[in-house]
Amino acid sequence: MGRLNCECGHVTSNVQGPSRATGDILGDVARARSSDEWTRSVSGFLAASRAGRRHEWLVEHRFDPSAYPEGTDQDLIFDLHASAVDRVSRRIWECEACGRLYVQSRPDRDEWKCFRPESGTGYEGILAPFEAV
Ligand SMILES: [Zn+2]
Repeated sequence: MGRLNCECGHVTSNVQGPSRATGDILGDVARARSSDEWTRSVSGFLAASRAGRRHEWLVEHRFDPSAYPEGTDQDLIFDLHASAVDRVSRRIWECEACGRLYVQSRPDRDEWKCFRPESGTGYEGILAPFEAV
């Protein structure tokens, strides 16, 4: 959560998320790695749970068991997915005034690359939810 001070002077905030102006970029290779990691971790967790080793799996994988009591597997699976994606994805912001895109240079850095649309049409809602027909 934060705010973008665009070169055009507009300030975009995503404090009241989810935001239509922010998102994540994930290339094919990063997506494949993220999916593999998430699938492996969920499979390992489910196997440990079936074997009666749920608590041990959480401790071994540095999760606080008190934060994931029995019956909260959905929360853990959500967090495993977020972790796998966050590790390899880059944040992206779209200025709601001029349409410039700001892409994080690396997942672990507060460094940004700015891209200005050549169309000159301004904000196009690139990150807004797509409504399937
Ligand atoms: Zn702008």
